[in-house]
Amino acid sequence: MLLIALVLAAAILLINQTHPVMAVLAALLISYGIVDIYMAKVTEDLDRLNATLLKEREIRQEFFSNASHELKTPITSIKGYAELLENDMIPDPVMQKDVIRRIKNEADRMTVLIADILAVSKLEAHDVKPELMDIDMSELIADRVVAYEPRAKAAKVTLCNYAMNHVHVYADYGQMEEIVSNLISNAIRYNKRLGKVWINAHNENGYMILRVRDTGIGVAPEEQEKIFNRFYRVDKGRSRETGGTGLGLSIVKHIVNYYGGSIELRSKLGNGSEFIVRIPEHGIEAETE
Ligand code: ADP
Repeated sequence: MLLIALVLAAAILLINQTHPVMAVLAALLISYGIVDIYMAKVTEDLDRLNATLLKEREIRQEFFSNASHELKTPITSIKGYAELLENDMIPDPVMQKDVIRRIKNEADRMTVLIADILAVSKLEAHDVKPELMDIDMSELIADRVVAYEPRAKAAKVTLCNYAMNHVHVYADYGQMEEIVSNLISNAIRYNKRLGKVWINAHNENGYMILRVRDTGIGVAPEEQEKIFNRFYRVDKGRSRETGGTGLGLSIVKHIVNYYGGSIELRSKLGNGSEFIVRIPEHGIEAETE
């Protein structure tokens, strides 16, 4: 402040040499005003930073409390089944085997849940180092369709792969696999009996465009944004029964955002859904989230 005042006083003195005291006073007043404006700006920036930090802390706390709540469900089941066995409450050996199978299923559920929780927290902390490479999405999709065929068969759903040949994208293979797997698995999980899933991919205007359409239960308009939030499920029971964690779409959205792409949902309740993913074919454009 003193330095600003001196510089200003010297400048004003040069212009108005007859009233040096007035010149110094004027310089002091002007520099006070400048410092005041500067301090107000600094305070405003600090307030904004503080609000962002508080929001981030809130989001993190909410995430951990949701995650521990989700983990409690399989742990409670495992404990309950183990106690039944421990107290010889199930004498029938066939029933015993069934309970052991249930324990194993719950443990598998926990493994998937923990993997998804870790994936989301890493993506949110920007703690991922994608290995970018040229990927032929048609091959990747064909591979995923074969992997999901048994699950589709069990659910009496037909998978139809219409991806064009040689669809390219410069991205991380594991992340592209994650997107395709999540969308196909949801399209089977939330489908109807004898339903269909169409998978399509092509390159257009510098983008790799992936479409996964199903004849399933659809998503009501008021739910369409929420389903991308972590742990949000329209029907918790159906998601859990079919091995869902409520994190799939939020993982997909994070990955898509990472590449500066987009994900769109077109759906009518009771009348199927279509998820459209667009990713810049030459790699990361902008890291948005
Ligand atoms: P989940 O593991 O529960 O499937 P997701 O994040 O993948 O978690 O999806 C969140 C919710 O969005 C699901 O629980 C379901 O209610 C809804 N959803 C996702 N995909 C579809 C779809 N293809 N058709 C209808 N609802 C869907």
